[in-house]
Amino acid sequence: MALLQISEPGQSTKPHEHRLAVGIDLGTTNSLVATVRSGVADTLPDDKDDHILPSVVHYLADGEPLVGSEAKKHATTDPLNTISSIKRLMGRGVLDLKHIGTRLPYEFAESDSSVPRIKTAAGEKSPVEVSADILRVLKDRAERTLGDELNGAVITVPAYFDDAQRQATKDAAKLAGMHVMRLLNEPTAAAVAYGLDQGGEGVIAVYDLGGGTFDISILRLNRGVFEVMSTAGDTALGGDDFDHAIAKWIMQQAKISDDAGHHQLRRLLRDACAAKEALTSADTAELKIELENGEYWEGVLSKEIFNQLVDPLIQKTIITSRRALRDAKVTADEVEAVVMVGGSTRVPRVREKIGEFFGKQPLVNIDPDKVVAIGAAIQADVLVGNKPDDELLLLDVIPLSLGLETMGNLVEKIIPRNTTIPVARAQDFTTFKDGQTAMTIHVVQGERELVSDCRSLGKFTLHEIPPMVAGAARIRVTFQVDADGLLSVMAREETTGVESGIQIKPSYGLTDSEIENMLRDSITYAEEDVAARNLREQQVEADRVIEAIQVAMQQDGQLLSEQERTGIDSAVERLANVRNGNDHNLIKQTIDEVNNLTTEFAARRMDQSIKKALSGQNVNEI
Ligand code: ADP
Ligand code: MG
Repeated sequence: MALLQISEPGQSTKPHEHRLAVGIDLGTTNSLVATVRSGVADTLPDDKDDHILPSVVHYLADGEPLVGSEAKKHATTDPLNTISSIKRLMGRGVLDLKHIGTRLPYEFAESDSSVPRIKTAAGEKSPVEVSADILRVLKDRAERTLGDELNGAVITVPAYFDDAQRQATKDAAKLAGMHVMRLLNEPTAAAVAYGLDQGGEGVIAVYDLGGGTFDISILRLNRGVFEVMSTAGDTALGGDDFDHAIAKWIMQQAKISDDAGHHQLRRLLRDACAAKEALTSADTAELKIELENGEYWEGVLSKEIFNQLVDPLIQKTIITSRRALRDAKVTADEVEAVVMVGGSTRVPRVREKIGEFFGKQPLVNIDPDKVVAIGAAIQADVLVGNKPDDELLLLDVIPLSLGLETMGNLVEKIIPRNTTIPVARAQDFTTFKDGQTAMTIHVVQGERELVSDCRSLGKFTLHEIPPMVAGAARIRVTFQVDADGLLSVMAREETTGVESGIQIKPSYGLTDSEIENMLRDSITYAEEDVAARNLREQQVEADRVIEAIQVAMQQDGQLLSEQERTGIDSAVERLANVRNGNDHNLIKQTIDEVNNLTTEFAARRMDQSIKKALSGQNVNEI
């Protein structure tokens, strides 16, 4: 039933203020789309009132592919053209197929490309294309139901998805004509659906038991931002295994032999699954199994027996959960909320055992099939701008790289752009000169190679570095960006522990178009930048060589003859001259010449210091 919306008296009635955004759970077995309407998030049904879209695509020689339950009907009759579980292949290369391939009965095209392509009646399809076909159906469903074009979508991905898998998901959305505002981790979405992001701080476990996979994620909520502390799982454990356990039990009871026909086994699994689902709301399930000779076996599966059958499987998930807790370095007691996701968490025994393990009632109020899509929809609603500005955004990424100035006006990037915040990265630096006791850290933002082409964010100086020879000091510089995008930079000399730092708000004052310009420049000038970097690097090296020789001459000049000394002096002078030019090859060549000319000098200095060290000492003490 659709309700007409009526605005508060005195408030704007402009209907198009609301921008259309959806959350999409692009699942291995099933996919869903959800949106926030009148402040309530819910999934959207198709015209048969089904909310769940099976993630199955059936390709035909001509015409649009079938997607969902229509496609699923062809799974047994035309398996090669009916693609399911495509998520397992997203972002994977041909070489990965061996690992995952056993469960995927498709024909793959021979190809030189690293992306696997499945042969279908409609031509070769990449995993990205198959996923796009699923997403297109969800997009159409949303636009038809809501009567407007989509402004954007949040798509969920497993927390363990790597960059390639995430990028493939984004590519699929793009291919489906969708604007992805953000990819959100599935467990995070589930926690958001329960409003746990409003709760301040704490550790949350998200237990996701689907049809074929199990995932456990330990999240830490800190100032409105979820950090994934650990994930663990089993890619071959889920409700399907419950079905198998029941089927095996039926075979024993009904004396069905192990080598029963393919059709018999399929029927058995279907009946086992129905019995399992019935037991979720009943104490017994009636079984009537058609045998190959056309007769029927009738029996009853009680809850007690069912529990015994599935207990070992549930125990496996508990062992995995324990490992996830250990990786996150927290105990079950410290977990403040347990969120249940996935169809198999409907099984009462699962809820009971998991509740026991964590010592608290798991959260089950929201439909475990819909919870991820609902959380994604809530996040999409915030991102698209339907919420007041002060509403906290969850995860975010930094728009431009952050780095610092090194010798020669060059930028060393510490945190690359698009890194999800909060983040902390550290890198070690050293001194340039002998006896150097201070170091200035100049923090910059941007993609270019030269400091002058980036944006300066701030500077500070670390003092009291103990005097050492150039290159011996270890200065650890840590960049940390918190959830609000606030950057703090800290420099610490490792032997003495002296440290210094600053805090900066990097995005402050930068508009989107400025960020865009900076990115465009970094591409336009890429070649020039490389040339400039080469030149600067050689200049820095030249300065270092000149500096080192001057110091050596001052200390040990007496080791050289008059003639040798003038030879070195004039070479150094030549280097100082070419250093100011812009031919990096010439500088490098001259540096090499100077180095050759001073090898003998360096050897004599070495001998001298060894003699010094040896004098007055017993050889055994060295
Ligand atoms: P996936 O995450 O792999 O896409 P789902 O989260 O959709 O899978 O979960 C599917 C599993 O949930 C199937 O094994 C299905 O039998 C099981 N399931 C669905 N409803 C029930 C129910 N009422 N009781 C028990 N199991 C159920
Ligand atoms: Mg799932």
